[in-house]
Amino acid sequence: MEPVKLALLGASGSIGESTLAVVRANPGKFKVEAVTGNTNLSALQKIVEEFSPRHVCVADSNGVAALRRVLPSDVHVHGGDDSIVMAASLPEVEIVVGAVVGFAGLRSTLAAIDSGKRLALANKESLVAGGELVMSRLRKSRARMLSIDSEHASIHQCLVGYKSGVGIRKIAITASGGPFLHTDVSLLDHVTPAEAVRHPRWQMGAKISVDSATMMNKGLEVIEAHYLFGLPLQDIEVLVHPQSIVHGLVEFNDRSVIAALYEANMQSPIAFVLEDFYRELRCPGCHDGFGEREQRERNFATTNSSLDLIKKGRLEFMPVDAGKFPALDLCRKSLQRGGSAAAVLNAANEEAVSMFLGGEIRFTEIVQIVEAVTSSHQIVPLETYEQIVAVDRWAREAARKI
Ligand code: MG
Repeated sequence: MEPVKLALLGASGSIGESTLAVVRANPGKFKVEAVTGNTNLSALQKIVEEFSPRHVCVADSNGVAALRRVLPSDVHVHGGDDSIVMAASLPEVEIVVGAVVGFAGLRSTLAAIDSGKRLALANKESLVAGGELVMSRLRKSRARMLSIDSEHASIHQCLVGYKSGVGIRKIAITASGGPFLHTDVSLLDHVTPAEAVRHPRWQMGAKISVDSATMMNKGLEVIEAHYLFGLPLQDIEVLVHPQSIVHGLVEFNDRSVIAALYEANMQSPIAFVLEDFYRELRCPGCHDGFGEREQRERNFATTNSSLDLIKKGRLEFMPVDAGKFPALDLCRKSLQRGGSAAAVLNAANEEAVSMFLGGEIRFTEIVQIVEAVTSSHQIVPLETYEQIVAVDRWAREAARKI
């Protein structure tokens, strides 16, 4: 069987690393055709040495000449934001893994959808800022999109496992609670960027780590889940679960619940989504073949360790403390307000997080800024990519001014 050709956008980040680990653990299944990165050239070089993609793209055009010097001459090196879009729409590519960080990922998300790819999406900001547009383009194209956010991939896994996929009462996504779950609220004013990115369960990039510390990440994921699963806000629950073993739960109309459990590790959700796409592309007859004899061999491997529930001991669940973590309610409100509200929230948050990481503002000011920007914003409908970009720019300037 021909390997499935893959474009990996954001290859040098932590999702890129986990995706490549899955590719490595399943030899012969995938061919990495294109990789993209931002500024980490040495990471890209190492990836090229191991996986020999035909195309390498760097968002920062300054890196092109340096990469050409060190890479084999048959590797095509491209630069600039347009090259990321090009990688997402290469005709030979069958699966795009979208792991660009932040709003910058929206263009390539749209490009992958418009060119009919199977899109494994890690860039939740695409859906937060451009949810309506992304979903309407998806309906018009033959593309398929699955999230490789662990919670959402878990929900998808539960739905596929249940086969019928109908009669869903509600879903729940879990949150570890981040590094400040047990920190007194009065101390949050003084936490440093280093403390905020030190996540107890997940090794992730700086932006998403800060989002986890404010719990903005969970709010963004609620918006993401709303678009992915077409559920109203009241049917999407958030549970704080410090052990990060249960990732997503689905309750059906008969009040039974299916949940996905695994050791906190991104390889499991990525492998599940890639396998789903792989079956569809190379084994259409077995796409829904759960319970078949060859199931064990067909399941994709990961290097994640087996879950030992006895060793784990207690699994705890609790509600989100909305007074201490107001970001979640802000996200719910912005989705209720509709139109440009979530795009503004996303942009203000990206800007505030970068100001916090740069030492310009306090930790608690991140959410205060997002709240001030969203409440001063006059909502407009968002129908085009250009409108989203304009609103995004406005919100970033407004956040900087505060
Ligand atoms: Mg997540």
